[in-house]
Amino acid sequence: MNKVLAELITIGDEILYGQTLDTNAHWMSGQLDAIGVKVIRRTTCGDVETEILQAFAEAEQRADIILITGGLGPTNDDLTKPCLAKYFDCDIVMNDQALIELEAYMSGRGRELNKLTRLQATLPEKCEMVSNERGTACGMWFDSNKKVFVSMPGVPHEMRHMITHKVLPKIQRTFSLPIIYHKIVRLAGIGESWLAEKIETWENALPKNIRLAYLPTFGDLKLRFTAIGENREDIKSQIDGQIELLLPLIQEYVYGYGDDTLEMVIGQLLRERNQKMALAESCTGGFVSHRITTVPGSSDYFNGSVVPYQNEMKIAQLGVKQETLETHGAVSEATVSEMADRVRENFKADFGLATSGIAGPGGGTIEKPVGTIWIACSQKDKVTTRKLSLTNDRVVNIQITSVALLTMLYQRLVQND
Ligand code: ATP
Repeated sequence: MNKVLAELITIGDEILYGQTLDTNAHWMSGQLDAIGVKVIRRTTCGDVETEILQAFAEAEQRADIILITGGLGPTNDDLTKPCLAKYFDCDIVMNDQALIELEAYMSGRGRELNKLTRLQATLPEKCEMVSNERGTACGMWFDSNKKVFVSMPGVPHEMRHMITHKVLPKIQRTFSLPIIYHKIVRLAGIGESWLAEKIETWENALPKNIRLAYLPTFGDLKLRFTAIGENREDIKSQIDGQIELLLPLIQEYVYGYGDDTLEMVIGQLLRERNQKMALAESCTGGFVSHRITTVPGSSDYFNGSVVPYQNEMKIAQLGVKQETLETHGAVSEATVSEMADRVRENFKADFGLATSGIAGPGGGTIEKPVGTIWIACSQKDKVTTRKLSLTNDRVVNIQITSVALLTMLYQRLVQND
């Protein structure tokens, strides 16, 4: 079965200026993927006629379906409609059905049409109107040499409603679509190049129709399998078979699948074992606690946390020894171990976790540069510690530290089996 290819064109100077984040393209990609259409390119154009026309022409060369959002308003800076009329060589005329729907939409809101809003019901002659139940700018569907152009409003909630209820069903009726199937394996505690080396032989033997992608973010790693075919069950079992072969090589790093997160998986394990955790977060400022508490029902296993940012608070809130702080400093293995022990005891938990480090961008020394972070996980008879040497970026350091700490707890839970 042939692939059906799509390109997305989002129009608007505000996107290029960095004032509007192009969430439309992101959302549309996901929707098309789910029905088996392969998105091959996304383009953003400013409100400039020549650029818009060039983008249409280029997209038509490559794709079967071209989805366009933005620039449909009635003002002079909205150029999509005149550009489409020019591209398809036709006039813009009043569309009776569009006018009826526009009048109904406006009167439903107690508003009358003025000269400018009335223009919203004019459309290029060669298009088929796509109703907009959420706004005044209707969509336009053009058939051109077995290719389809669809233009929709830029306002995200109007476009989403139109795609879901009108455009996707029509695409499914117009094209014979394959199934695109993805499966994600989630790993922590291993970098992508180490993983690639470990699984090289297995990866080289993957069947040609299965594609593998490494998707790392802040110490968390996703392995995405993708296959295209006609039968969902066939490609699903083909991918599952490959994962079965892979697992023995990487089992210790795999914590979940699909949308699983470390905090969800840790929560399940703690709940099953009736065990509790507590946190003492210095440089992460409560971020790990936030992640833990985003999981519904986390009160079953999360006893609580402290953020003892200043040394005095490490002493007052946790009982870290002054001597430890003076001898080793706040960012040290000794301090973070004590923090983890004390929070476990004070909060009557089975696991005490702690972070202490220099998140940056200032505050580093030659001995302890920015990005030096210690983490610890304490259990009754054992404390595990780890030193991280991270970046100059504060937010990135906090994110990576949270993954490293949760990975440490996850590994302890699994090793305790
Ligand atoms: P309408 O005539 O209903 O306003 P329009 O097609 O003219 O629709 P635009 O003027 O291009 O829409 O954009 C309207 C608003 O929608 C923008 O101010 C912006 O907030 C949002 N928007 C436009 N394009 C995008 C996009 N690609 N991603 C996210 N938001 C967008």
